[in-house]
Amino acid sequence: MRHLIVILGDQLDHESPALTDADPKQDRIWMAEASEESTHVPSHKQRIALFLSAMRHHREWLEKQGYHVDYTQLDAPDHSGTLSGELTKTIEKHCPAKVIMVEPGEWRVRKSLEGCCARLGTDLEIRTDTHFLSTVDDFRKHAEGRKSLRMEYFYREMRKRHGVLMDGNQPEGGDWNYDKENRKSFGKAGPGEIPTPTESRPDTITEEVVELVKKTFPDHPGSLESFNWPVTRRSALAQLRSFIEERLPNFGDHQDAMWTDEPFLNHSLISSSLNLKLLHPREVIEAAESAYRDGKTPLAATEGFIRQILGWREYVRGIYWLHMPDYIERNALDAGESLPDFYWDGNTEMNCLRQAIGQTLEHGYAHHIQRLMVTGLYAMLLGVDPRKVHEWYLCIYVDAVEWVELPNTLGMSQFADGAAMASKPYCATGKYIQRMSNYCSGCRFDPAKRTGDDACPFTTLYWDFLIRNESRLQGNQRMTMQLRNLERIDSETKEEISDAADRIRKNGGCPTS
Ligand code: FAD
Ligand code: SF4
Repeated sequence: MRHLIVILGDQLDHESPALTDADPKQDRIWMAEASEESTHVPSHKQRIALFLSAMRHHREWLEKQGYHVDYTQLDAPDHSGTLSGELTKTIEKHCPAKVIMVEPGEWRVRKSLEGCCARLGTDLEIRTDTHFLSTVDDFRKHAEGRKSLRMEYFYREMRKRHGVLMDGNQPEGGDWNYDKENRKSFGKAGPGEIPTPTESRPDTITEEVVELVKKTFPDHPGSLESFNWPVTRRSALAQLRSFIEERLPNFGDHQDAMWTDEPFLNHSLISSSLNLKLLHPREVIEAAESAYRDGKTPLAATEGFIRQILGWREYVRGIYWLHMPDYIERNALDAGESLPDFYWDGNTEMNCLRQAIGQTLEHGYAHHIQRLMVTGLYAMLLGVDPRKVHEWYLCIYVDAVEWVELPNTLGMSQFADGAAMASKPYCATGKYIQRMSNYCSGCRFDPAKRTGDDACPFTTLYWDFLIRNESRLQGNQRMTMQLRNLERIDSETKEEISDAADRIRKNGGCPTS
């Protein structure tokens, strides 16, 4: 055999650079399902089903293109359980002249497959991933010589380089960023009628996979009842189209808002399709920009959406590869608490957390602000070990892949990376959640209270967070106002707050009565 072409579960693009010069007569494709990928953190059942079903559909597509696919199913007899174990067997059997693959999205997987080829003395060619609009090297160059990195400057460079939403040399509409217009709540009226997401009806492949996951991983978190994620490029394109036509026009205004029993609102639900490479970010950005140029979507909504993909998504990937492998160990705030048990079952009196975790278990999905300002915020205020928080996010969302999950969790939401990602901690009291949702009206706690039986635990823990981290945050210009407010609190009240926070911690992160 000439080349063995490795295709991993999140590399399902039809235009993969690994296939550029592939010859079906001389080369073989290698794909493997491995239980280790679902158990090194105990993945949500929908996440496992999504990966397996999308991989099996991709195998069908490859075979239709004439390729021979060496595919190992999860339940194959004598399965070693690991990617490297299965690759070793295939290399030993076929002795390829060379193994080819595209850069893996996770440090752990890259090291393990590199190690496998090195041990067997097989040449390994790793090709640059063309799924992204900037390369790992581009980002390294962007970072060189800068004291600190900020997404906004990187994003402007990307807009210019790719000519996205530009009017000559200037940003469309005169501003680079319309975030100010994108932070509205729904007010008392609520979100009104929201178009339902496209249905991706399970076919035989998905049904088989769902049964396999139920049987193999019965104790893993999450339910499979509502599984509705795109598993093919075709269904991913349908999801994208329905978002652009029906929800993008309203995406901007209420991008940060949350509402009881509305898990999806006007969000696009395309992160898993992007991360599995069923969609290319370029086509997503082009679809959004075309809708704007055709007068179908407002500029603020279009820019807000494009910034998430051309800005944040590319930026976090750059941060991940710039700082790994030590990034995962960072713990700048010395946080060491355990993750509360209710993160695994949603069983808590705190309505915001019950809602965010409940829909996460039901769908494997929560939108950005629920992840950042509800589950992430609570873990940071409580002082949970960032490694434990990272493991939860990596296993619980259908779109979770380490290159994107880790900087968002460790950096943006836990401020554990020493300000590599965010210039200040995203810390707030329960009043932020009250302003951006209707969660508090269905909750027994009062977001305005920091101590007492009905004090909102977010509010108690927010002040406690500032008390505990005052000296660490002192030099941070962006925290000046918050620390000045802390100074206004007398020492007796501070002691009451610290005592109340300690009681929550001793009670496993649950409010005490
Ligand atoms: P929309 O709100 O419609 O946004 C459009 C697209 O923009 C998304 O599909 C996504 O591809 C991209 N995007 C938006 N925000 C970000 C961001 N901060 N970083 C990177 N891309 C972004 N996203 C993942 O894809 N995988 C993860 O494992 C993941 N973990 C996260 C963990 C935490 C703690 C936080 C705060 C955020 C995380 N995100 C992650 C980012 C973001 O929350 C999700 O991309 C988004 O909620 C997916 O829903 P959507 O497709 O409806 O996105
Ligand atoms: Fe969450 Fe506090 Fe509001 Fe309850 S009162 S929903 S705990 S923010």
